[in-house]
Amino acid sequence: MDKKFTKIGIPRAISYYNNYPFYYGFFTSLGIEIILSDKTTTKTINEGTKYVVSDTCLPIKVFTGHVINLINKGCEAIFIPSIQSTGYKINNCSKIRGLPEIIRNVIDKPFTMIEPTLDKTENINFKDFCTQTANALGITDKQEIKKAINNGWKVYNSFIEMTKSGVSYTEALENAINGKFIKKTVDIVKPLSVAIMAHGYNLFDDRISLNLIKKLEKMDVKVYTSVNVSREDSLKAIDNIGEVQYWANELELTGTAAYYLLNEKVDGIIALSAFGCGPDSLMVDEIAYHCKEAGMPLIHLTIDEHTGEAGFITRLEAFTDMLLRKKRSILTKKSEKTKEYIQNKNIVEIKKEKILTSSIK
Ligand code: SF4
Repeated sequence: MDKKFTKIGIPRAISYYNNYPFYYGFFTSLGIEIILSDKTTTKTINEGTKYVVSDTCLPIKVFTGHVINLINKGCEAIFIPSIQSTGYKINNCSKIRGLPEIIRNVIDKPFTMIEPTLDKTENINFKDFCTQTANALGITDKQEIKKAINNGWKVYNSFIEMTKSGVSYTEALENAINGKFIKKTVDIVKPLSVAIMAHGYNLFDDRISLNLIKKLEKMDVKVYTSVNVSREDSLKAIDNIGEVQYWANELELTGTAAYYLLNEKVDGIIALSAFGCGPDSLMVDEIAYHCKEAGMPLIHLTIDEHTGEAGFITRLEAFTDMLLRKKRSILTKKSEKTKEYIQNKNIVEIKKEKILTSSIK
């Protein structure tokens, strides 16, 4: 049977940020060419905003903008999965579950939606999800689909191995899809370290996150994110703080924050979420409670299409400055006990000479 489509458009939004290494391995093995939408810009957001009701969260507006971008590129088939649940009663929010329905109801343009469903609560597993996708493209050979699934996992697992060793998201993604493998062997120590709890689609989209990671790195802050924590560690951490996983994206938020809260590897936690997001507000509240109990500083940054860069930077600077002061004060108290002399140098000199070698963590 001939393929119905030889190309597929993938919106660079929502599940792209977690699953693209798998999608890449899977579709290329099936001989399907991937057309990615362009990176998010203000124009993408404005385009998406025109189609959906105003109180929809930013990531869905962005997703809609990416679909429009793919239609404008001439894509005939666009991949819009409905990821309902990723484990038994481990659910996604209603907008991610109903993504194909949202797009169908707001975009009245001719294209074919490739809309597989993943719903482990209802026994629709990942193999079914992949089979539905291949069938919709006109591919029915079971062996071919099996081979494509294996290839998807191969690329995905390589990506995960790299990020777990400390390779950045972007670097790992690029290497994984180019069939290369690198590993970080040395963990560079910086004066401050923070963990960010956020959905991949918010954090790794530079326009949505207003380049949060790059901004922190410019401030000489070491950044840890969900991709640096294994699934097992994340689940164990949720359990260890006495919470249970309910949301599909919980590992990226509660799990990541709990892991870094418990292992005391960071000086503070940054929560990044979209304005009006129900699941995130619950998860951030839980973590805020545990941070308060543990004396771990936490800042919650919310974003929408109107978030300005200046205010964002000011809040980040104030937070990192507070973290440095806190660290210096702990160090000073410690030196008073040991009668160690600490020169009254500026914070940058102190952090290099003292905090780097400090054993207060
Ligand atoms: S989890 Fe929150 S941010 Fe993500 S799509 Fe749902 S409402 Fe929007």
